[in-house]
Amino acid sequence: MSQGATSAAVVSVGNELLFGETLDTNTAWLGRKLATLGIPVVRGYTVGDVAEDIGWAVRDAIQVADLVLVTGGLGPTPDDLTKFAVANVLGRDLVVDDRVKESLQERFREQGMDSVPPTAYDQAYVLSGSEPLHNAEGTAPGIFLRSDEAIIVLLPGVPRELKDIVNGSLLPHLERLQRDAPDRVWHHVIHTTGIAESRLTALLEERLADVSDEERLGVGLAYLPDVRGVDLRFTAFGPSRDEAFARMAPLVQSIEDVVKPYRFESDSGDLAEAVSQILRERGMTIATAESCTGGLIAKQVTGVEGASDVFAGGIVAYSNEAKIALLGVSILDLAEHGAVSETVANQLALGVADLMNSDIGIGVTGVAGPGGGTEEKPVGTVWIATSLGGEVEARICRYSGGREAVRVKAGHAALAAVYRRLVDSTA
Ligand code: AMP
Ligand code: MG
Repeated sequence: MSQGATSAAVVSVGNELLFGETLDTNTAWLGRKLATLGIPVVRGYTVGDVAEDIGWAVRDAIQVADLVLVTGGLGPTPDDLTKFAVANVLGRDLVVDDRVKESLQERFREQGMDSVPPTAYDQAYVLSGSEPLHNAEGTAPGIFLRSDEAIIVLLPGVPRELKDIVNGSLLPHLERLQRDAPDRVWHHVIHTTGIAESRLTALLEERLADVSDEERLGVGLAYLPDVRGVDLRFTAFGPSRDEAFARMAPLVQSIEDVVKPYRFESDSGDLAEAVSQILRERGMTIATAESCTGGLIAKQVTGVEGASDVFAGGIVAYSNEAKIALLGVSILDLAEHGAVSETVANQLALGVADLMNSDIGIGVTGVAGPGGGTEEKPVGTVWIATSLGGEVEARICRYSGGREAVRVKAGHAALAAVYRRLVDSTA
């Protein structure tokens, strides 16, 4: 095994996960964190609080990955069996770690207790030859150890504690190991929005059909869709970032003109963040007038740090009366064209920009369903207007997937429209 890790597996332990009482957010969080180190999670296991099952999963995980993370079952109660199960698999003893013991004593002293309750003392037991990882949020330390086959890390199930240990000690440690590793996986991600996965795939596969395996230089391409858009993820194994990115570059370059109309730049993949960043760079502000999205766009924009610099304000103008009274939508146009129309979307965008004195206005009006659709304007019809410096543009969209999907997709499309206009306005 190399010094570092080329792949990881996550074992989640807890009856509550299998019974559906608790959603396994730890695996998802760990997957994203490890990806930042270039370590892909290749397998996940969920098992109950059963020593045999934990043992089975860990034994299997060691076969397929060289980093195995186990979450849950580390507490002091009788259903916490992870340490015993893993000690059994690896043929190790459980031994008292004096540092953990001292920190337990200190913790309980701080809480005004003279002695550590006997059950809590169980936390001082770790696997022989392992290293405890400090947990500032709770009493169960993480446990780090190496076997011949893998690095194995035991972590508490409580997400707050798990994150504290991973961010505080595990990641820095893994980072150091990765730096010395001969080969690791590197990703280059392109975020796109406003194009269906099927269409994007067809366009790109046509473009890449002529590229031979040799010309691909071992670079892989994955399509990762969700309601907001499709991420294109290029993958290459290699010793260094520069070497891997140099190998990815020709492939990335060859699809550049196909993806350009749909791509957006954001480290996190969040479109609201991408829009906010451009607004901040240009010293511009935005305001929202939302009907069917009910404030979703405002929520997303205000979810980005430092939103007060770029977000002027938003109005959820749901009824016709609100559209007329608050945003100056014409009563005659409402009567003639209906609330879901280009004219009304335009007036919403212009009205809110005017009211809030912002550079940009967004107006969204649509039929989210399940009721309210007509033949001319079926459920899923949404008009999205954006005004930039008083110039308004609108487009009609038709979404499927039910009320929530329509709302989320419309909100995302509105942000995408703003992003596109901002990018194009300097091009
Ligand atoms: P444990 O370390 O097994 O005592 O877990 C304590 C608590 O952490 C559980 O009651 C759950 O609420 C939570 N938890 C355990 N595993 C997970 C997981 N994979 N994802 C999210 N929460 C979890
Ligand atoms: Mg548990």
